[in-house]
Amino acid sequence: MDAGLNDAQRKAVNTLTGPMLVLAGAGSGKTRVVTFRIANLIKHGIRASRILAVTFTNKAAMEMKHRVGELISLAPDEGPEISTFHSLCVRILRRQGHHLGYPPKFTIMDASDQASTCRKVLREIRVSDSTLRPRDLQYLISHWKNRGIRPNEAGAVAISDKEHIAAVGYRRYQDELQRCGSVDFDDLLLLVDDLFRLYPVIREQEAARFDHLLVDEYQDTNAIQYNIVKSLADQHRNICVVGDDDQSIYGFRGSEVQHILNFPKDWRGATEIRLEANYRSVASILELANTLIAYNTNRYDKVLRPARPGGKRPRIEQFKDEDVEAEEVVKSIAIQIARGIRNPREIAILFRTNEQPRVFEQELRKQDIPYVILGSKSFFDRKEVKDVVSYLRIVSNPNDEPSMRRIINSPPRGISNATTKKLVDVATYRGVSLWQVMQDEEVLKGLPVPARDAIRNFKELVVESQQLFVDSIDEHKVQTYLGKIRYEKEVERNSKDEQERDMRWASVEEVVNAVGSFTAKQKTPSLEKFLEEIALAASDLEEDKDKQLEKDAVALLTLHASKGLEYPVVYMVGLEEGILPHKRSLSEEGEAVNEERRLAYVGVTRAQDELTLSMSQTRRKWGRLYEQIPSRFLFEMIGQADNPNTYKRNKAGKAKGRA
Ligand code: ATP
Ligand code: MG
Repeated sequence: MDAGLNDAQRKAVNTLTGPMLVLAGAGSGKTRVVTFRIANLIKHGIRASRILAVTFTNKAAMEMKHRVGELISLAPDEGPEISTFHSLCVRILRRQGHHLGYPPKFTIMDASDQASTCRKVLREIRVSDSTLRPRDLQYLISHWKNRGIRPNEAGAVAISDKEHIAAVGYRRYQDELQRCGSVDFDDLLLLVDDLFRLYPVIREQEAARFDHLLVDEYQDTNAIQYNIVKSLADQHRNICVVGDDDQSIYGFRGSEVQHILNFPKDWRGATEIRLEANYRSVASILELANTLIAYNTNRYDKVLRPARPGGKRPRIEQFKDEDVEAEEVVKSIAIQIARGIRNPREIAILFRTNEQPRVFEQELRKQDIPYVILGSKSFFDRKEVKDVVSYLRIVSNPNDEPSMRRIINSPPRGISNATTKKLVDVATYRGVSLWQVMQDEEVLKGLPVPARDAIRNFKELVVESQQLFVDSIDEHKVQTYLGKIRYEKEVERNSKDEQERDMRWASVEEVVNAVGSFTAKQKTPSLEKFLEEIALAASDLEEDKDKQLEKDAVALLTLHASKGLEYPVVYMVGLEEGILPHKRSLSEEGEAVNEERRLAYVGVTRAQDELTLSMSQTRRKWGRLYEQIPSRFLFEMIGQADNPNTYKRNKAGKAKGRA
């Protein structure tokens, strides 16, 4: 058990009770401490089910389960509870949400549902796009929710006219969600916090489920997560948090690095542990990371020494434009694979924005190199996938408004836009859902006969399908359902040619396959659990990392998604002003740029053996060519950032060569 731990780590793993803080730099074994500590608690007789470990991404949770499983053998259902904040909160809300007026089968909305709800709300309160765009409303609502500002409190913190209008929109939006028995991603946390504040008994009940709480990546907790952690650990005080203030990268979502720095004050008598050896990266890479992060002021000073001396020096490369950058990066990857020096799965390409991977994907495809995009939502954005998922959601919760509007007449079944509009108007006026209006014979009587019949048929379809999925879900049931809907016809109708039809149908099959692999994992696979899994996965696809290993593929991922992971070979691309640091951060004051610097630090510290940093001298946007300036972080990493104005001019030549 003790093997593979240094003294400080061993102390952290062997201190079994009381509050504990492990504040340490990247790659120093913090996550390792968490997993060993869980195993050690179980070895000392703590029942696994009394241990709760929380991380930020599904990937990390999966990884942690896996690592604990390697340390001790556990019966399949006997494991500790290892989950993300969001899935922990889903479970609490399924049990307790009815106290707040939510049905146990509430739907979890995705970003596009949120967007369509925002559009609807703004239309209803007659706010035009030029006054407030749906996108801005969506952003502000999320911004407020992440800071614990409830609908009725937003008016008080609103400053600009836009914000005042958005505050009104926020209230309508929340009513709308409640009406369709839905919650959005941010609500999951906020509602649990509400529950705990309003009902101390529930808080006690939920806290009493566990005797030990461990939190990884604690630097990224926002105010709500902080409250939830506190509520759950207040009684037993067996709380262990690990994190690194230098890797706090979710400030834009309200995370506050102060939470980890204040931990010793919040939890009197906390054991504090520092880990000072980095086991992940070779010295040459770590040096770069340390030099870079030193440019951040206001940080908690930590020591981070390389446990792996030497190493290849990181390369800095400049290319003519983004196409050449992609070509050259992929070429160098191709050579390593062809020569058998590296397997695809050992290589990652990290980028800052979602527009960047496209050219790399093209190149990888051209070169026939297997790759996966990690943490991408694109699969769930496909029309067919959204349709099928909406159909499934309607079975589980027919009040789910965005899904209902999406599928009510797709495939066409004689419910015209005019009919739907009438129903929606009544629903809005009465403050109920479309589905509820459809149950009202009086309303239906006011419709033309064909429309009335069409609605009756549709209702029958929904009720029959509810029977079909009443106690479980499996691939056959989904296929039966798709047959009933005649979805294949719809795909055909939407396709220009056979090729397109095959492609679209392949997406449908992917959903069916997802059901298949879900049922294989579950003892009692229910429709609700399946929907929940994909709703939470939509923001970071949980099988991703597995898929990458299984497929032996190069990983493409954002810097944000790369947190906590490690790869032997890393390419960080697009190191240019405006990309990293991101242009949004440049218009704001220093703290935003500091956060970008931490993001760059996260990227650099993912690399174990080899790191290549690259940039393009020009980039094409909307048909125009723009000159790019090397990222200030490049200059900082190589210790040449004495004059902050240097990177304002194009000093591209300076950044060339090896660091
Ligand atoms: P991050 O800040 O990026 O989340 P971390 O502090 O959580 O990093 P880990 O992922 O736990 O670090 O560990 C980094 C790497 O170092 C892993 O490959 C881990 O197995 C290895 N490692 C950690 N501690 C030791 C040790 N004492 N001996 C050997 N290898 C170690
Ligand atoms: Mg970690």
